[in-house]
Amino acid sequence: MKDVKFKGLCAKLILELKSKGISDNKVLDAISKIPRHLLFEPVFRDKFAYQDIAFPIGANQTISQPYTVAFQSELLMVNRASKILEIGTGSGYQTAVLCQLGAKVFSIERHKSLFQSAKLFLNQNNYRAQLFFGDGFLGKKVFAPFDGIIVTCGAPFIPKELKTQLKIGGRLVIPVGEGDVQQMTLIQRLNDSDYKETIYGEFKFVPMLKNINN
Ligand code: SAH
Repeated sequence: MKDVKFKGLCAKLILELKSKGISDNKVLDAISKIPRHLLFEPVFRDKFAYQDIAFPIGANQTISQPYTVAFQSELLMVNRASKILEIGTGSGYQTAVLCQLGAKVFSIERHKSLFQSAKLFLNQNNYRAQLFFGDGFLGKKVFAPFDGIIVTCGAPFIPKELKTQLKIGGRLVIPVGEGDVQQMTLIQRLNDSDYKETIYGEFKFVPMLKNINN
């Protein structure tokens, strides 16, 4: 990140994430490099861009809270060889973090306007993800299997297609629950037919919805 002022604010955010329990240095380092302020209107940048909060990005959606992005990225265990599918591109912030971690990233968004603005942000900042406009419930079978799948909206249930598009040993990180609060859930694929499920506590996401929105 070039701008000194934002660099300082981002450094404070990193300390805050550490104090909240994020310990994976690769994840912290990736977050410290993303110009999150560019995803905010200029009037909101100084005050809000590097606070550990979710924030409205239009179309009734939010950019995820940095702590949530860090938590999900840690659980995914991304490395430079990982092929990752994200459901819910939104602002493109989590997508950028995954690219910065060195992953090959595919991301799906159901809101046309957000799909377009995320594409612009990612292209302009040299994050090379493959973005798709559409419904993420079915995953992206043509590019499967994935080392990791991350869902960044609250899923009413765990879509079967997302499980079956994991490699053996792959990880699906998905907030599950109807209503305001979801349980962060990790699904690990053990073999062709078996999965292990671990729950990591409560988070709040906007809902995962089925129909696309032009
Ligand atoms: N990862 C984003 C979070 C955005 S909020 C970020 O860092 O900014 C969640 C996003 O999921 C919203 O943009 C919403 O439109 C999208 N979404 C909801 N249901 C979806 C679905 N079925 N398929 C794809 N995207 C979906």
